[in-house]
Amino acid sequence: MEFAYPKIRFQKICPVDEAETEADKIFLNGLCQLDFKKLQRPFWDILSSHQCDQLGKSYIFCIIDQKTQECVEYFTNNFGFNPHRLFISWTKKTFFGESFCIQAPTGFGKTTFGTVIAQMKKGRVCFIVPTKFLAEQIYEKLSSMKPSKKIVYLSRKTEITDLKKDSILIITTAFLHKNFPSLPKNFDLVFIDDADSLVRNPKNIDKVLNLIGYTSDDIQSEWERLKRQKNTLEWNKQKPPKGQVIVSSATLTPKTKRLLLFKSLLGFEIAESQTHLRNIVDTFIERNDYINQIVKLIKTLGKG
Ligand SMILES: [Zn+2]
Repeated sequence: MEFAYPKIRFQKICPVDEAETEADKIFLNGLCQLDFKKLQRPFWDILSSHQCDQLGKSYIFCIIDQKTQECVEYFTNNFGFNPHRLFISWTKKTFFGESFCIQAPTGFGKTTFGTVIAQMKKGRVCFIVPTKFLAEQIYEKLSSMKPSKKIVYLSRKTEITDLKKDSILIITTAFLHKNFPSLPKNFDLVFIDDADSLVRNPKNIDKVLNLIGYTSDDIQSEWERLKRQKNTLEWNKQKPPKGQVIVSSATLTPKTKRLLLFKSLLGFEIAESQTHLRNIVDTFIERNDYINQIVKLIKTLGKG
């Protein structure tokens, strides 16, 4: 017997034009009837071939999927094995322009993710590490990757003036502290590897925000706003972030209140744990006694 989809219409369900359509059209082709007629192929076929300009409102989603795929290939070509699933999740977040905190144990590939994204994300990247020893390691790693952006590391006969539009600057936390005035303040992305010591000092939070283009006045006025806001801290979405910050650590515990600026200006918190991915399944039950069934489900699932 052929499976019969329930007769349900969903509003704004079509990923191409947000049209209302029946469940069976979405299950079969991922598109409303009109778009399927036009495009002649299921949504997922067009997505996997990355013909993004055919996908209307899913255009950005498709472009990000394509960029993520390119990062996976870049990873595999450079390291000879496939990346972890978390790598894919972090990569997508980055291309969506999010700032975020990666809190995962050693061995999850946080630093490797940082090196790949520094190479693959367009623009100027500042890679901050806690020690000189680690800076040397990152320099060696980034320099061995192919193709590579221009890598600027001041211990290796390169100058700040070498920092072109698409390049990576490697610095230590101590260097940030000592040479801050001479650093450019227009990075597109700051990746802070092993961030524990850096975020302990509130002044460093300001410096990181300066590196992506916030002026001291911007920061001060946001800080004043936060103090007035007290308990209702929200991401200040009216102001789009000036740049992106990714913070990585194994054991991060937030110490300074100044970190609230990351939340209000960039929309992320240091306390979040990003080690696990959620496994979401879309499902339905076909029954006539809806109310009893719903009550039973609510009781079983509780708040979850
Ligand atoms: Zn449609």
